[in-house]
Amino acid sequence: MKTVVIEPGSVLGVLGGGQLGAMFTMAACRLGYHVAVWDPDPEAPAHRVATHSFPVPFTDQHILGHFSDLVSVVTYEWENIPAELCRVLEQRKPVRPSSTVLSVIQDRLEQKGFLASHGFPVPHFAGLTAPDQLAMAVRQVGYPALCKTATAGYDGKGQWRIPRESGVREVERALSESARSGMRWIVESLVPFERELSILVVRGSDGQSCTYPLAENEHEEGILRTTKMPAPGSSDIAARAAALGRQIVDRLEGVGVFCLELFQLPSGELLINEIAPRPHNSGHYTLDACSVSQFEQQVRAICGMPLGEARLLSPAVMVNLIGGDAAIFMKSAGCRALLDIPGAVLHLYGKRAIRPRRKMGHVTFLGETLSFALDYAKQFRDGLASGPILSA
Ligand code: AMP
Repeated sequence: MKTVVIEPGSVLGVLGGGQLGAMFTMAACRLGYHVAVWDPDPEAPAHRVATHSFPVPFTDQHILGHFSDLVSVVTYEWENIPAELCRVLEQRKPVRPSSTVLSVIQDRLEQKGFLASHGFPVPHFAGLTAPDQLAMAVRQVGYPALCKTATAGYDGKGQWRIPRESGVREVERALSESARSGMRWIVESLVPFERELSILVVRGSDGQSCTYPLAENEHEEGILRTTKMPAPGSSDIAARAAALGRQIVDRLEGVGVFCLELFQLPSGELLINEIAPRPHNSGHYTLDACSVSQFEQQVRAICGMPLGEARLLSPAVMVNLIGGDAAIFMKSAGCRALLDIPGAVLHLYGKRAIRPRRKMGHVTFLGETLSFALDYAKQFRDGLASGPILSA
């Protein structure tokens, strides 16, 4: 495929204006590009840093014309934007990753079906189009199971655990209460994983690709809390994860940054949880700990520029600031106490409303070794739990 090169000075369009869109925009600006952000929420963080800001619904036809005239290429910062909008934009300007990739990935059933049909390892799964199909679907995958909405779920939202047969009724009721027309769900076996891992894959339009080192992630209530970089343990697992990631993104013919989320079983076997067609929260460490960040890679890949070196310069531990955690650091005492911890790099997303479970910022702790970085992160998390950071 011929590589279209988009030169610095051009306007890059991004759909979605959350923190990932803001970090993309800042990386693009550093390379001399301008960015047009389209997100219906006027408070979305990326509007603050964009050259052109479109805080209007994705259905606005007038803005669609204006946006597509303005930009040289379109990308997106999360998968829950309308694939139809990408399809229409694609008739006018390159969309990277393509609308076809987006529609496979944004629907969990399509995504798992795609992976399974190409022989990639995924948990057992079954689909349902009505709540009363739940019992049958769970029988196919076995107990314990997890039911998820096929679209629009993220950070553990739209998920129900079904530990045993007696739990089916309750979940069926919950599905009926939240059901809308055309809705589908996926039931997966609940994987008894030893740990959760992720790996970033960057692929250019010429088919060249690179991977970052393997990360180990801890979640709390379905939300990413901590990423350890590099993941401790066997280099064989890291090599297998990287190979899987590359093969999948090649199969998709994806152009951009992708993140493969994985479960590691006690046997060492890897199962794919999901793929994100964009930079990922578990890759935020790349901003402070790598030669080229995941956001700069997104810019380079969609602009047809050479991909950057995905080299780790320092071990790192990333801790998300979720909900009320962030309020402490927006005040001077908390902020000073945090910045006093060696190796701490603070990122606040500038979101005004603090809500439970909302990602408000993150801190990356850099250390000469992973063990140092873990100590700094522990010092911080203990402070959060017991309050000395608050009273510092
Ligand atoms: P997701 O939104 O699908 O990435 O799920 C959020 C989190 O829920 C994951 O990071 C896991 O901790 C957990 N989870 C999701 N699917 C499964 C599964 N099939 N088995 C075990 N845990 C899961």
